[in-house]
Amino acid sequence: MKITEVRLWMLRVPLRTPFRTALRVVEQIEDIVISVHTNGDAIGYGEAPPTAAITGETHASIIEAIGLIAPRLIGASVDDAVNLSGLIQGAMANNGSAKAAVEIAVYDLFAQRQALPLYRVLGGEQPLLTTDITISIDAIDKMVADSLDAVRRGFTALKIKVGKQIDEDIERVKAIHAALRGRAVLRLDANQGWTAQQAVTAMHALEQAGIVPDLLEQPVPAQDLEGLQFVTEQITSPVMADESVFDVAQALEVIRRRAADILSIKLMKCGGIANALRIADVAAEHGIECMMSCMLESSISVAAAAHVAAARRHVITRIDLDGPSLCTFNPVDGGVVFDDAQIFIPDVPGLGIRTVRGLEPIAMSRRK
Ligand code: MG
Repeated sequence: MKITEVRLWMLRVPLRTPFRTALRVVEQIEDIVISVHTNGDAIGYGEAPPTAAITGETHASIIEAIGLIAPRLIGASVDDAVNLSGLIQGAMANNGSAKAAVEIAVYDLFAQRQALPLYRVLGGEQPLLTTDITISIDAIDKMVADSLDAVRRGFTALKIKVGKQIDEDIERVKAIHAALRGRAVLRLDANQGWTAQQAVTAMHALEQAGIVPDLLEQPVPAQDLEGLQFVTEQITSPVMADESVFDVAQALEVIRRRAADILSIKLMKCGGIANALRIADVAAEHGIECMMSCMLESSISVAAAAHVAAARRHVITRIDLDGPSLCTFNPVDGGVVFDDAQIFIPDVPGLGIRTVRGLEPIAMSRRK
């Protein structure tokens, strides 16, 4: 079976509540969706969010990048995932989300051809995952209310966004911790919003108050590995690198310096499934755990992330795939079931996506 055509679409899904971090505010998912067609019946789907603040990618850059990658795939066999990944990754530098969208779609086709769910093709066995959910930065009362609401929905791990103003951040976490009374573990994500010293001060204040979160994510700017290492040395809570680790080389550098205890893997940072597996495997070799995470994505690309997590459960010990839970509706028919905290991967070929509703066609820019 050979690839015959690549089509692009816009997908818009309003969020249940605005997504606020130290870096940005977003009110709806507006992602580029790709469908990859073949000379058989199979269609592969992928998705890329424009996360300019983190990956540097916009709608325009994703469309342009896929326009450059797509012609390389026409005529290629869907049975050779290594070749397809090479064609995608070799098309240009950077542009991780555009590459991820294409790679997700071709892996979807690759697994469909083998009539197996993607996670099983990748070596996984167990199709059930439990995710946390993000609590956006807001007024303390609102964050407490959102946290209690999440616990009522069945979430047992909350990812609290911090990284604004440290006194307020400390109060936010204390108030949420007090309101939850042990019903959920807390993960804190500062999204690069603190200096190393601020991070240590904030975490010591929390730890002295008896609050040791499950992890502190990316306290300092992405490039500040020295600062990240300092925070990791100084605090009791585990530190996780997110924006500091896009690729395997950066993962190895963080591991070598012991700059973090845990690595965050996102398909949109590393350019797709092959590199995500490489990061997980390198981390496993060094005894470092990973969290599978996502950007603001719907259940197309988050399904792919769930398959990758299910394929590497021995090292991907934490799941932060809350994109679908943040959406007002699910545009996808078929495939992974996102039931708030519970994620279930049914025994159907590939990603299992039958249709995606509400797609608006986008003209492809074709460049060589
Ligand atoms: Mg993060």
